[in-house]
Amino acid sequence: MSTSSQPFQGARRAGLDPAHREPEVASSSEPIVVLRGVAKDYVSAAGVVRALRDVDLVIERGEFVAIVGTSGSGKSTLMNILGCLDRPTRGTYELAGLEVGGRTNDGRALVRNRLIGFIFQGFNLLPRTTALENVELPLQYRGFAASVRRKRAVQALEAVNLGDRMHHTPNQLSGGQQQRVAIARALVTDPPLLLADEPTGNLDTRTSLEVLALLQRLNRDVGVTICLVTHEQDIAACASRIITVKDGRILSDVRPPTPLDAQVSLDALPTTADHEREGPDSQAFDPRERLRKKLGGPVPFAVYAAMFGGGLLGACLGFAYDSIVLDQSVPWIPLGLLALGEAWVGARFGARRVGHPLTSDQRARISVAFTCAVTLPLAAIGLWFFLPQSMADRAEQISSSGVAIALAAAVAIVLVVAFARYALLLLFAPRLLPARSDH
Ligand code: ADP
Ligand code: MG
Repeated sequence: MSTSSQPFQGARRAGLDPAHREPEVASSSEPIVVLRGVAKDYVSAAGVVRALRDVDLVIERGEFVAIVGTSGSGKSTLMNILGCLDRPTRGTYELAGLEVGGRTNDGRALVRNRLIGFIFQGFNLLPRTTALENVELPLQYRGFAASVRRKRAVQALEAVNLGDRMHHTPNQLSGGQQQRVAIARALVTDPPLLLADEPTGNLDTRTSLEVLALLQRLNRDVGVTICLVTHEQDIAACASRIITVKDGRILSDVRPPTPLDAQVSLDALPTTADHEREGPDSQAFDPRERLRKKLGGPVPFAVYAAMFGGGLLGACLGFAYDSIVLDQSVPWIPLGLLALGEAWVGARFGARRVGHPLTSDQRARISVAFTCAVTLPLAAIGLWFFLPQSMADRAEQISSSGVAIALAAAVAIVLVVAFARYALLLLFAPRLLPARSDH
């Protein structure tokens, strides 16, 4: 992900500029959220669950609030009320100066559409629909002309660094990319309030930090108010205000003096864990990231050991075939099976161990290392023991230029063997691992 602090231009141009705002929302410096004495009871056959009790909460414009708490503490209930998805049983809710707690379903839907962007743990994108169309959808609901929709959706996707993935459908995107499409969709209508329920719950550490860095940037540069629910402490630490909920009440409400900067944490992440990340991810915008991906990470020693075992097994099978079936020694059969067994094991087991088919760089490293460390010493030992006496005698009288020629021949043989090994590893590369999106 780019480290530049490019503002959310689509959002800004589209509406954060007050001239573009609907009149009723145009105001100003009053808090964006005011909850007074809000309670939520769920009545069921088993009795009444008091999910929220007497919550008073004021959120100012431009704040980045994290709501934390254990499971069942009432976080989602609070988010549903903030998001006008549900109404309080008691108490009042003012959103951007409008009383919304008592509105009917339709009234709340209107407010939602105008004032709130949502992002969810499961992304909630429409499948079989491109990123661009997903982002256009909220604008369609609001009746914008097709050309305006397209332009603003493109800007929103560019602002989340997905300008090159606009025509991909969700299943062609990684989790982090899908969540960024969802963020673009949430912000394309330029709502003053962005609500997120566990937005990083389905993402690995690096991708979570990337999403968080994006949210921090949007909060800082565009001024969108963000309220997110999380149970992860290091996600909450990125917020400028942390509200802890327990048993339906606000237990604590703190403003850390120095919130964590997600981009800084991201830059500090060790790079070696990279090859463990699965699937078609990962925002290879950063040249370092791209290079690491190309190199594919270190090759575990176990891969070499497995290759050695595979080669040995192949050679044994070859010898057995020679002596039992053919009843004579045909050296190319065990040698050929050795090479095939070793390369097959290397390509398959290697792919499994590193989490993706071996990169060309990894194949080259394996080929050279294995040839120098295993094939060459074995060949030398073989020569020592099996060279016919007449040739050995002749080798003793070899001149210094003869030695140079022999060395050059050895180097050439190493290169040829290494190249053959590389080709075999390529031949046996598994094709059924998860598709990679290196394109
Ligand atoms: P959290 O999101 O913090 O895990 P919730 O807000 O989902 O907590 O739930 C708070 C409490 O309300 C829990 O005890 C939960 O069982 C209860 N609850 C939530 N939704 C409903 C519902 N629709 N009907 C009955 N009880 C509910
Ligand atoms: Mg919840």
